[in-house]
Amino acid sequence: MTPLQLAVLKCPNRNSDGSCEGVRYDDRHTPISCFSYPCCLLAEGTPCNYYEDNVCPVADIESDPVLQKAMQAAVYKYRMAHGWVAAIRRCPDCNGMLAKHRKYCLECSGKRKRSTWKESKRRNRGVLSTDVPKTQ
Ligand SMILES: [Zn+2]
Repeated sequence: MTPLQLAVLKCPNRNSDGSCEGVRYDDRHTPISCFSYPCCLLAEGTPCNYYEDNVCPVADIESDPVLQKAMQAAVYKYRMAHGWVAAIRRCPDCNGMLAKHRKYCLECSGKRKRSTWKESKRRNRGVLSTDVPKTQ
């Protein structure tokens, strides 16, 4: 299901001819404006506040599990298209995909750990050689 198909199915603002009533509500659910649009905003690829606030949540309370899955996919597509879903995180070293809570991928974090360890050993040796004069 596409976001527009979800709007066709569930958006109460949408008329049968594809136009939009444009009814909006404030936070007390009082209608505040009625700018009717000749066409659904989603059909033009424009984000719609009404859709986000009133149609997207309907996907989570749909009783038919098959329909619910399709509706949630439509909501996900809408959110992807309008920058709601965070981009997939990438490893800054190799640009590989990152697992949850990881700063670097497994391979790069291993490399970094080894190089940090080597660096610290090198530093310690350097400090020791200057602080403690070698006995001859
Ligand atoms: Zn990496």
